[in-house]
Amino acid sequence: MYSFSSIIGQEAIKDHFQNALRTGSVSHAYIISGEKESGKELITRTFAAALQCDDLQERKGLLEPCGACLSCLQVQSGNQPDIIVWPRKEYPKYKVKEDIRAFLPDVQIRPYRSPWKIYILEDAETLNVQCQNALLKTLEEPPAYAVFFLLANGTENFLPTVLSRCVVMQIRQVEEGRIAAFLREKKGIPVARAGLCARFSRGNPGRALLLSEDPSFGEARDRTVRILREIPSLTADRITKEAKEIAEAGAAAGFRELASMWYRDILVYKSTGGRGDLIFEEEVQYISNIADCLPYRALEKITTALQDAAKREKLSVNASLTMEMLLLEIRRVHRDASSADSGFRR
Ligand SMILES: [Zn+2]
Repeated sequence: MYSFSSIIGQEAIKDHFQNALRTGSVSHAYIISGEKESGKELITRTFAAALQCDDLQERKGLLEPCGACLSCLQVQSGNQPDIIVWPRKEYPKYKVKEDIRAFLPDVQIRPYRSPWKIYILEDAETLNVQCQNALLKTLEEPPAYAVFFLLANGTENFLPTVLSRCVVMQIRQVEEGRIAAFLREKKGIPVARAGLCARFSRGNPGRALLLSEDPSFGEARDRTVRILREIPSLTADRITKEAKEIAEAGAAAGFRELASMWYRDILVYKSTGGRGDLIFEEEVQYISNIADCLPYRALEKITTALQDAAKREKLSVNASLTMEMLLLEIRRVHRDASSADSGFRR
């Protein structure tokens, strides 16, 4: 059952929602911004369940949905008629524009039985200008019972006119120690694995949980470290082979993410003189060596290559080839840096 007490971190948003529940001052529109798996759906659904609950309960100083009334039971089974999730699952993605326009008149129909009619708009950053303008008309004169939650992975794509109508809240990173404790205590994950997953989640409890449930995570981590340690000396044949294996395992996105963390560590090491927190802390020896020979410009080039590979993959170009090009580019940057280095040794 949804409860505020089970959400780790996000104190500012919880305080705001608790205050709204106590005082009844609920806004008509919220933007909850945070990366994937960061918990924006969870915190929104918890608040929505509490708003609609017939019998709010006070537990440990928090107002919580009761979990037993008709509305709460409907929320748990995913069919509370006054909590509407967009885009509708059955609707083709490319028709989103028509969908949101077709769906906006629904706002004028009063809720069935709940005090509020709640709209949860997922991936709201994908709303284009026409969609946002259509939505804006509703946000300018919303019926008293309507509440919109726009869930997005950033606020850059919203029109200023939409932003100004919404309470904007940002999902914050959660401390690594709290995530590890959550994995150990609530999910029964062994200590070492909980620590590793917490560290790699970079403050995102949802991602930490996914990692802890993913049996291939340890393997993916080891493979990434092995490849990136050896990359300057890998032959073209080895690169082709590794790229093919990664692509065939469906692990390209995971590889890119881990590689981004690896080079992030190198950047942190370089810029803090070894005093910053590393994600791959057990690889500090390699990281310090690479930090010494890769200049900042080389790290920038690798970051760009990782982003380009992600874009290329989205266009569903051959995944194996995309990975191969990425590895070749990383190798090139490493080799260029070391030849420049040996040429101008101080
Ligand atoms: Zn209830």
